[in-house]
Amino acid sequence: MSMIEFHDVQKYYGQFHALKDINLEIDEGETVVLIGPSGSGKSTLVRTVNGLESIQNGSLIVNNQDLSSPKTDVNRLRTDVGMVFQHFYLYANKTVLENVMLAPRIVSHIPEDENRQRALSLLKMVGLESKAANMPSQISGGQQQRVAIARSLAMRPKLLLFDEPTSALDPEMIDDVLQVIKKITSDSAMTSLIVTHEMGFAKEVANRVIFMDDGRVVEDDDKTEFFRQP
Ligand code: ADP
Ligand code: ADP
Repeated sequence: MSMIEFHDVQKYYGQFHALKDINLEIDEGETVVLIGPSGSGKSTLVRTVNGLESIQNGSLIVNNQDLSSPKTDVNRLRTDVGMVFQHFYLYANKTVLENVMLAPRIVSHIPEDENRQRALSLLKMVGLESKAANMPSQISGGQQQRVAIARSLAMRPKLLLFDEPTSALDPEMIDDVLQVIKKITSDSAMTSLIVTHEMGFAKEVANRVIFMDDGRVVEDDDKTEFFRQP
């Protein structure tokens, strides 16, 4: 079953052609890493998948919903599609625990106790149970990003998108965040699409690596192929 299908997709920012003839099919459960030079369209491609950027031509089907159709409800789509950004965008005036509990409370109306238990176990999974009562400003950037990851998992998404999740972090914090992402992608049947510059990490977690350049997909290989020595 495919989770994401791009068929001849074009994306323009005004006159600028940002995505060119994208054809891509990503199956349920795949962990795909997207790499390529700065400005090649990686972020744009990932952002089209949950409707943060619209496309102008072609079709884009995500979780059986057609994003090229104006009738598709992106808010509904996003309950199944989590996203982790370079900057964490935690709610600054809410505790770590509240940040994780917010979406399920508002969107799914699950019982408060169950929501709290789930949130605490997600915080435990990212190694931050002890920070549940802290405010985001009281924890490090790497810890904030792990909270953002826990928050993105709270809705139990089928698809998780990561847009350079470690690029804004101090070097010593990168590894903890990568370890968490590795755990998530190896533990579950979830599909992941990850933009990163961390090649070692890509080599460890990806079962497929897609290389972009100048708005195009220029390589699409399984890991063994991509990392094969010449
Ligand atoms: P990458 O993630 O590979 O660095 P991006 O998807 O961020 O690439 O950007 C691809 C190209 O599209 C770049 O040339 C960038 O300047 C341009 N771009 C990105 N967002 C916008 C925007 N909102 N308006 C105009 N141009 C944009
Ligand atoms: P990143 O590559 O880390 O995602 P950028 O600095 O490329 O960040 O982009 C940050 C924001 O600016 C994004 O929302 C992007 O859409 C927008 N942006 C990027 N390039 C342009 C551009 N040439 N014109 C207008 N907006 C842009």
